[in-house]
Order: sequence, then structure tokens, then C-alpha cells
Amino acid sequence: MKPLASTVTGVTASGIRRYFDLAAQIEGVLSLGVGEPRYPCPPAAKKAAIAAIEGDNDAYTSNYGLLSLRKAIAENLSTLYGVTYKPENEILVTTGVSEGCDLALRSILEPGDEVIFTEPAYVMYGPIIVFSGAKPVALTSGPSNGFEPDPDQIRKAITPKTKAILLGYPSNPTGATPSREVFEAIVEIAEEHNLWLISDEIYGRLVYGVEHTCVSSLAGAWERTILMGGFSKAYAMTGWRIGFACAPPAVIEVMMKVHQYTMLCAPTISQIACEAALRESEDDVKVFLAAMEHKRDYFVNSLNAAGLDCPMPKGAFYAFPDISSTGLDSETLTERLLKEQKVLVVPGTAFTGFSGDLETGRRHIRCCYAVPDDILEQATQRIVEFAKVRA
Ligand code: PLP
Repeated sequence: MKPLASTVTGVTASGIRRYFDLAAQIEGVLSLGVGEPRYPCPPAAKKAAIAAIEGDNDAYTSNYGLLSLRKAIAENLSTLYGVTYKPENEILVTTGVSEGCDLALRSILEPGDEVIFTEPAYVMYGPIIVFSGAKPVALTSGPSNGFEPDPDQIRKAITPKTKAILLGYPSNPTGATPSREVFEAIVEIAEEHNLWLISDEIYGRLVYGVEHTCVSSLAGAWERTILMGGFSKAYAMTGWRIGFACAPPAVIEVMMKVHQYTMLCAPTISQIACEAALRESEDDVKVFLAAMEHKRDYFVNSLNAAGLDCPMPKGAFYAFPDISSTGLDSETLTERLLKEQKVLVVPGTAFTGFSGDLETGRRHIRCCYAVPDDILEQATQRIVEFAKVRA
């Protein structure tokens, strides 16, 4: 047999998977591992989906997605961030932000181009840059600057081959939520070097006591930014698989071409449900946010009280504690926590594979606190117990 595609075989599978497979063999595991809210999706979304199914409203939509959904997205972005996108040709409905990011990269990258991003970062970024034939240039960040991207470091990493800067804030896995000034400095660099900005803002609604900065709303950013948003997190609709990309018309046209030939359109029933979520569920999002903030405070304060150094994250629904006081590295700790206390977390090394920053990866674990209170309480007690024994 001839060999499989080396572009793909050269990338290692997500480090998270190994622990999920291990957990699947153990009964009664409390999981803070998966990056999704264990929370019901808005009732309006369910109702709209059921009506769509019963009304046989299940044909393909436009390749761009339902126009009514694109209108709702445009209105929502304008209300939240004052940023303007035309529903007709500046918004593309995608099969999750996952597809949106892939389309964005495939639409702008040529083989050999470089894309800069900062780790710890979402596991998808490095691999999809590689799949596009480009080179990931992963920078490092640490607790000293709150895991935020450093504009000076970005500037120094730029070469004639740099094509884009990929941003994903609030961050999975650290919860880092940089200030407007940090993004303004990055936009300035992008303008100076004529770079694209790809901004994955899937956690944009999930900020606590701070404002989310929508990158394309900043001066000079709109024409060079591909903005991504979705329904998986703040609407707790991971399995519905809907996201959206917003960009200047020429970019959306190219992204749509790839989408048209590979996906045709995002799932119709899900699009209908997401439109209802956007139009009717703002109160549900507020309740969800308050619940997440409460969980965050409880979890992070409990870890700190137990001697695990954990900064209070300002966004997303992850905590990223430093576990070095246990004397274990993150992979050993993850495995032992799973076997000894039946709690699943993710080692930091899963998020630092492209910069090779083993130090940061080994010192931290990612915990998703978006789980029901009883599970969170039990899991927290078990982590605290584990940390105490090790201290
Ligand atoms: N971007 C980030 C930063 C994520 O954390 C995730 C999921 O965990 C995704 C994108 C994928 O989102 P979607 O479910 O919309 O494909």
C-alpha cells in the first residue's frame, strides 16, 4: 500500500484523547476533562428544532447558511460590540468554529506561509495550520503575564513568510482574557506588516467582570480580520455543530467556495435552533454566565486554599492551576488523579506541543468547571485531597 498523507501523519493526535480513553475504562469517573458545558441548551432552541423536524423543514440551506440566521448574527454582533457585517455576503454559517477556523486558514495560506499564535493554545490551532501546508510559529506565555499574548514577542517572530496572527481569546485552556490595549497593539503590528488576523472568539460571551474585546471592532482591524463565533459554549450547544465566520466579502467568498465543495451547508435543523437561541435566549445566556462565574469562584478558591496556585481566570470556563507543589508533572498527575481519585483533567502538555514549552505544559493542568454543582464539588474535594497528600 502506498503511504498515507505525510502532512497528516506527521501531526500527533490530540494529547487529550489518551486520557479520555483511559477514563472510559474506569467506572464512576468525575470528568473536568472535556471542554464543553454540561448544561441544557436554551429551551427556545429545542422548541424551534422540534418544530423544524415536525414541519419537514430539513432541506439544504443556502451555502452561506440561512439568511435569517445570518441576519440574527449580524444584529447580535452589532448590539454586543458595535461591529457591522452584512448578512448577505460578509457572514458564513459553518459547521462549528472548528470548520470556520479550517476554512479561514485554507483560504489565506499558501505552502510555506507562517502563522503566529501563542501557547498554551487550543489543541486545534497547530494541526490545522499544518494541514493547510503552512508553518505554525507558536510563541510561549506564562502565568507572569496571565498567559496573554505579548505584542513584542509577536513582533520579533515576524518574518517575510508571516501571513497571519491567530488569536483565541478568552483562551482555552487558560481563561486568559487580554485587555483592549493588548489587542490594539497586535492590530497595529498586523497593519504594519500587512498581516491577516484570525480571531476565534467562541468564548466571547463568557467573561467575568471584564469586557470582551471583539478584535474586528478595533480601528484598522475590520478589513484584515476573520472573526469566528459560535453556539457551542455560551449556548451549551456543542453537538448542534454551528458556528459562523465574519470577514470582508472577498474572504467570505473564498471560504464559501471551500465550504460549498466540502460541506455544502451547515446542518439545517441546527441552524434553525441557533437562530431561535440568538433571538430568544439572552436571559438564558445571562443565567448561564452567572452559574459559570459561581462555579469558577468556588473551584479556583478551593484550589488556592489547598495550596495549588491558580490565578482567577477572567474568561471561558477553564482553570489552569500550577500543580508543581505536588511534586508531580502534569501527565503523571493526570494519570494518578484518574486512577487514585477518579477525576479526569487534562495535562498542560496537550496545549504546548508546537512551541515545545514543556516547562509550562508540565506545571499546569486544565480543569473545565462547567459541570453540575454536585460533580464539581465532589471532583474539587478529590483534587484537594490528592494535593494535600502530595504537599
Ligand atoms: N475554538 C476553541 C477555542 C474551542 O475551545 C473549541 C472547542 O472546545 C472550538 C473552537 C470548537 O468549537 P465548535 O464546537 O464550534 O466547533
